[in-house]
Amino acid sequence: ERVEVQELLLGLIDRMKAKAERFDVAIESKLEKVAIWADRESMVHILINLLDNAIKYNVPGGRIIVTNRLDNNRVVIDIADTGIGIPEEARDKIFEPFYTVNKDRSRGSSGTGLGLALVKQLVDKHHGTIEIADSEEGTLFRLTFPCLNHSLLKEGLQ
Ligand code: ATP
Ligand code: MG
Repeated sequence: ERVEVQELLLGLIDRMKAKAERFDVAIESKLEKVAIWADRESMVHILINLLDNAIKYNVPGGRIIVTNRLDNNRVVIDIADTGIGIPEEARDKIFEPFYTVNKDRSRGSSGTGLGLALVKQLVDKHHGTIEIADSEEGTLFRLTFPCLNHSLLKEGLQ
């Protein structure tokens, strides 16, 4: 189905607001109107997991910055946080099931380490990519998906 990324992100940011406030983390966004062809529930799952991590592994007074843009027929979604960061050596393991960097790092809500493994599966299913991009502080998760017109063309729907 057609998923408006800007609209979806605004709704999900709103949904995570209460948790972010409890962790004393501010969520900012700078969004453009772009659409992708995707299963909405999967997209919700992906984005909620990343936002949840960005809150849990942040610091008091920290920030999350969510942006999106169109780049060469790809919709790029960046979820950046000013949190504790992911050590270089953990970066290729982070998408493995049950992998967690260090239980003591999360602020009172240590997870099972399944979040990112499922996120990766769902992203793959949507011909998307997910990577940890370089950032000056914290962590930057970068997602890309084919933009709507492009994927419709590829699937011969248009
Ligand atoms: P779950 O999502 O299953 O509740 P989890 O959050 O521990 O548990 P993942 O979401 O798979 O598991 O993340 C794996 C590990 O990667 C986390 O335990 C955490 O150490 C690290 N991590 C994930 N996102 C971030 C982030 N934004 N900043 C710092 N570390 C992170
Ligand atoms: Mg998680």
